[in-house]
Amino acid sequence: MTVLDETLTAELAALERDARRRTLKPSARRGTTVTREGQPGISFSCNDYLGLSQHPKVIAAASAALQSYGAGAGASRLVTGDHPLYAPLEAKIAKLKGMEAALIFGSGYLTNLGTIPALMGKEDIIFADKWVHACLIDGAQLSGAMLKRFRHNDLTHLKSLIADHRGQYQRAMILVDHVYSMDGDLAPLVELRQLADAHDIILLADDAHGFGIVKAAAQPDIWMGTLSKAVGGYGGYVAASRTVVDYLITAARSFVFSTGLPPATCAAALEAITIMEHEPERAKRALGQANRVCLALGLPLTKSTIVPIILGEEVKALAAAEALRKRGILAVAIRPPTVPPGTARLRLTFSAEHTDEQIDALIDALKAEGIHG
Ligand SMILES: *Cc1c(COP(=O)(O)O)cnc(C)c1O
Repeated sequence: MTVLDETLTAELAALERDARRRTLKPSARRGTTVTREGQPGISFSCNDYLGLSQHPKVIAAASAALQSYGAGAGASRLVTGDHPLYAPLEAKIAKLKGMEAALIFGSGYLTNLGTIPALMGKEDIIFADKWVHACLIDGAQLSGAMLKRFRHNDLTHLKSLIADHRGQYQRAMILVDHVYSMDGDLAPLVELRQLADAHDIILLADDAHGFGIVKAAAQPDIWMGTLSKAVGGYGGYVAASRTVVDYLITAARSFVFSTGLPPATCAAALEAITIMEHEPERAKRALGQANRVCLALGLPLTKSTIVPIILGEEVKALAAAEALRKRGILAVAIRPPTVPPGTARLRLTFSAEHTDEQIDALIDALKAEGIHG
């Protein structure tokens, strides 16, 4: 063993002791069923909220693009990777997000890692909600801007941070998730919009879990999101003014220095978004299934497709997930550092493809195991 291996072995053992070590489990997915270690389970841990990753038309569109254009983009988009499917996809996303233009990146993570540092620097300040997704924080840190975190959805705290610090900096930006990924609650976009306008602050909202599911109450200056959740594929996007998008094409390093998405991935997203537009009942059904479980278990109703059951310590969440697994239900335990210490949980996600019988099976299993948070 090298010194590095020895040090890391000790670190892994420490994580194991704290029930925080993570390992991979090959998971074969077919519809809402996920098979792990030979055992099928009804999954309540997929972000494929509209079931579009497995839609025959989406698969057909991807297959056709694969045949026409091949497996890969061949270069970054600024070189020769800007194949013809990008323009219609970006136009569609811009229209759906109510913005002038959109730009596709390799993933949602890469979108935030490229966009925030392109727009913000050392003379600037970023205010970020304590619960925003890790990639917004990574982007903020990479930018070198001053970073201040405000308590989750606490506008009073945000206002006091703005009053204390805004004046000393040039540009300012507020970072929020439209739908918070581990709790399923929403950012107060209307109030945030007013606050941003009053203090000359750019508002950036991450719509990874809202796109195609939740209608926004107000428009930020910049939307970002992913094609990997309700859209069912892969890739990330920014939607903003034409000028912001034109600037990012030149300045966002994760855009400039990374290969374009495979053509089939663009084709799948284009078809999936078309279905999303034409079949709004899919989102309604997914939201309805989530709230059926909330009602049955006496949990607060949700405005998204995400329902957390907060259990506390890591071992409690792991034990609950294991008990459900034995009953044919897959609900992955979410632990720190993904969520704050003491709030390990089951994070249940719902899909338009869950049948009523599957929802009943989940309710029965949660009741039988006494899992209610
Ligand atoms: C999943 C997620 C991302 C990252 O998107 P990927 O396309 O999976 O990289 C960004 N923000 C939030 C809030 C997310 O939940």
